[in-house]
Amino acid sequence: MAKFKTLDDFDLKGKRVLVRADLNVPVNDGKVSDATRIERLVPTLRDITKVGGKAILLSHFGRPKGKVNPEMSLKVTVDAVEALVHRPVIFVATDWTDVSAAAKAIEAAEDGSVLVLENTRFHPGEEANDTELAKRMASLGDIYVNDAFSAAHRAHASTEAVAHLLPAAAGRAMQAELTALEAGLGKPQKPVIALVGGAKVSSKIDLLENLVTRVEALVIGGGMANTFLYAMGIGVGNSLCEKDLAETANRIMEKANDARCSIILPVDACVAWHFEANAPHRHYGLDAMDPDGMILDVGPASIERIKGAIDEARTLIWNGPLGAFELPPFDTGTVEVARHAAKRTHDGHLISVAGGGDTVSALAHAKVKDDFTYVSTAGGAFLEWMEGKELPGITALTAA
Ligand code: AMP
Repeated sequence: MAKFKTLDDFDLKGKRVLVRADLNVPVNDGKVSDATRIERLVPTLRDITKVGGKAILLSHFGRPKGKVNPEMSLKVTVDAVEALVHRPVIFVATDWTDVSAAAKAIEAAEDGSVLVLENTRFHPGEEANDTELAKRMASLGDIYVNDAFSAAHRAHASTEAVAHLLPAAAGRAMQAELTALEAGLGKPQKPVIALVGGAKVSSKIDLLENLVTRVEALVIGGGMANTFLYAMGIGVGNSLCEKDLAETANRIMEKANDARCSIILPVDACVAWHFEANAPHRHYGLDAMDPDGMILDVGPASIERIKGAIDEARTLIWNGPLGAFELPPFDTGTVEVARHAAKRTHDGHLISVAGGGDTVSALAHAKVKDDFTYVSTAGGAFLEWMEGKELPGITALTAA
């Protein structure tokens, strides 16, 4: 990854710092119900305001599709930001077609203030990555800081175009994310093991194709492993299985073979006859699968095999649960492997990077979310990174 600037490269005193934040937080009854994304912004906001810079937050919120929609106003986030930064936060009802009033409000704010601008997606130019809108955004700041990795896979005016118009830097959360991702796949300590689970192969084809060329071992678990087993001629009974993707699975296995990446598939399974918590279940070897049964988790021999493979690795990247972890006891594989990876990390043997969708809740469920080297809460951006795709928001920062 090319080098990017950070807050340390700028004198922020008295500067207007435009911060691309991720304020797209869950809201219930007019109140932010989960402020995790805002918490992640605090180090950046603190570093700007403590030296007398003005932190001016830019973010999208929901999908207003380029139109002003009061129900999607970022005003709703102000109390939550205020509670976390411990200082008054000013909401600026920005008109994105004419930002002169917003410019005055920013001018009038004291040094060290935090300001929240209106939803960038109220203007169609945001999602169109429009240069004119980006110029209006840039006119409101002296420095641009991107602290929203979760939005970096989109080339939008507030994530991409504006980064070319001002001196640009990564915020603290972005800096931590990029450093962790670089340690996971960019320049990792080898051997690297990837663990990919989840429901379907169809949503992760690009990711698997990229990983087999980058890692030494790839563990495939969850419902998606069934498609691979089926492709190998192994009966999977009534399990979730994308039979039409058997050829794709074979192609991925061939590609892995060519790249000398070992594919580790389950060797046994925890099978049930109903998709529900605490459904009666049995362990089966894959040579003796019940044709009426459903594989809902990896079995005990597979768990031991995966733990052994993790013991041989220096770096682990993980996306997707190994079974239907929301339904105990089919969370066993995910929980045991997650705890093993956490322990290897704690003991200094492993660098562990995880993220994407259900992975965060699976690790939280296993109570090891804070014991991995890094857990990314960015869904789409994390997956695109695992797919080896260029993230426009990052490229723009490194080009700056
Ligand atoms: P994804 O969003 O692709 O990461 O998929 C996560 C979902 O896959 C979770 O809701 C799991 O319950 C589900 N899942 C994992 N393993 C299985 C399985 N063997 N059978 C059915 N669903 C599964």
